[in-house]
Amino acid sequence: MLDLTYEAPKPKVIAGAKHDWELVIGLEVHAQVQSNAKLFSGASTKFGAEPNNNVAFVDAGMPGMLPVINSECVAQAVRTGLGLKADINLYSAFDRKNYFYPDLPQGYQISQLYHPIVGEGEVLVDMEPGIARVVRIERIHLEQDAGKSIHDMDPNMSFVDLNRTGVALMEIVSRPDIRGPEEAAAYVLKLRQIMRYLGTCDGNMQNGSMRADVNVSVCLPGAYEKYKETGDFSHLGTRCEIKNMNSTRFIQQAIEVEAKRQIAILEAGGEVDQETRLYDPDKGETRSMRSKEEAHDYRYFPCPDLLPLEIEQAYVDDLKAALPELPDEKRARFMSEFGLSEYDASVLTAEAENAAFFEDVADGSDGKLAANWVINELFGRLKKDDDREITDSPVSPAQLSGIIALITKGDISGKIAKDLFEIVYTEGGDPAEIVEARGMKQVTDTGAIEKAVDEIIAANPAQVEKARENPKLAGWFVGQVMKATGGKANPKAVNEIVAAKLGG
Ligand code: ADP
Ligand code: MG
Repeated sequence: MLDLTYEAPKPKVIAGAKHDWELVIGLEVHAQVQSNAKLFSGASTKFGAEPNNNVAFVDAGMPGMLPVINSECVAQAVRTGLGLKADINLYSAFDRKNYFYPDLPQGYQISQLYHPIVGEGEVLVDMEPGIARVVRIERIHLEQDAGKSIHDMDPNMSFVDLNRTGVALMEIVSRPDIRGPEEAAAYVLKLRQIMRYLGTCDGNMQNGSMRADVNVSVCLPGAYEKYKETGDFSHLGTRCEIKNMNSTRFIQQAIEVEAKRQIAILEAGGEVDQETRLYDPDKGETRSMRSKEEAHDYRYFPCPDLLPLEIEQAYVDDLKAALPELPDEKRARFMSEFGLSEYDASVLTAEAENAAFFEDVADGSDGKLAANWVINELFGRLKKDDDREITDSPVSPAQLSGIIALITKGDISGKIAKDLFEIVYTEGGDPAEIVEARGMKQVTDTGAIEKAVDEIIAANPAQVEKARENPKLAGWFVGQVMKATGGKANPKAVNEIVAAKLGG
């Protein structure tokens, strides 16, 4: 493992008119399960289909239809729990959460209130090198997503699209351990990274595959520590929940403005009402959506259509054995195996595909050199190329390690290697063959270099005089030789030969 110091998240302190306040944040992240079919029906989950095309009778709430659980969704929730080092509950059960909404034809959402499938876990949030801030997970439960109401297509009518109705969601509930806007964003991104590694959620926040309800409260310094010691929530301030955020930038902005709103109320002697609010990014404010409902408002009761979900330890063990290497472990291994800095290892492990590409390049090459080329040259070039994906890279790992091998052998200089990389990127081909065919080989033959140096010395007697008085001017000769050889001369050899000839 990484040699990390573990610490609690750091409170962001906001100065009020009277005294300082600290932030307390808890997130409920809704992650759409990556699966072909919905949680209780065989309808497709594909994003972007024609409205109301992916709807089974059970999703449409037709009377007498029965839900049948999709085992792949169960496996995905267990994998996610394992990835968050959480307890897996072998017994879980589904409850009906009753409410009316046009995009919820059943009139209830099937969720897991009393017995979630995943219990306590933790997420390591990276905010600075060598330090892992630990955010505790309270639970993950499986539930149905709702459909979508569309209000902006017609001035007089609203529309309903039920394609999303019944898609499996994992609701990942954190403890109120997050202490600032940046930590909240980093926490969401870490969850996203882990789920993308696991293949349990595609993490596409723009399409709404991952959305967060952000609970924010403020308290006086010291109050949070009392909560942490005792587990007693009454030490914390009253929270407001900002619904349905699907951008880490907006999450951060919303937390800032909501904290300031609460502080202003408290300092004026008022009380914060516990309520559900919406963030309006155009106005930069949160506004009330509804007063906070309690569990009893939903008349939760066990879903009579579904048996409790019982899974076996052996099933969990099998899923665990098949988990891929996760980001924290991979980063630690890259540091120890390839001698990479934590920063480089983090960049390379941000996405599993990047890490796999790097490992293929590093196979047989020097790890640090491979990391440099992947991060600086390849990532930079892909970015310039309209943010092309690594999976769509025109340069393969084998081609890149071929370029690196030519540098290591001394066949080409670093500068020529960049030209070669560009040729391979745009035209393809075998790097060694290109170097051979286009005469790009570095000249290490000292005879040839010496000849070039002699010619330049003979042609520039005045410069020679000056350089003999001031050795710093030798650089000019090195530059001339490099020019004369088309950049192919071995720079070390040129420097040595120029120094020797001028000295003599
Ligand atoms: P509900 O399901 O009604 O929204 P929960 O008790 O399950 O309420 O908590 C939801 C989220 O609110 C959790 O992530 C929890 O950590 C967070 N939370 C609870 N109390 C506070 C608080 N005082 N300040 C900030 N977040 C809080
Ligand atoms: Mg909630």
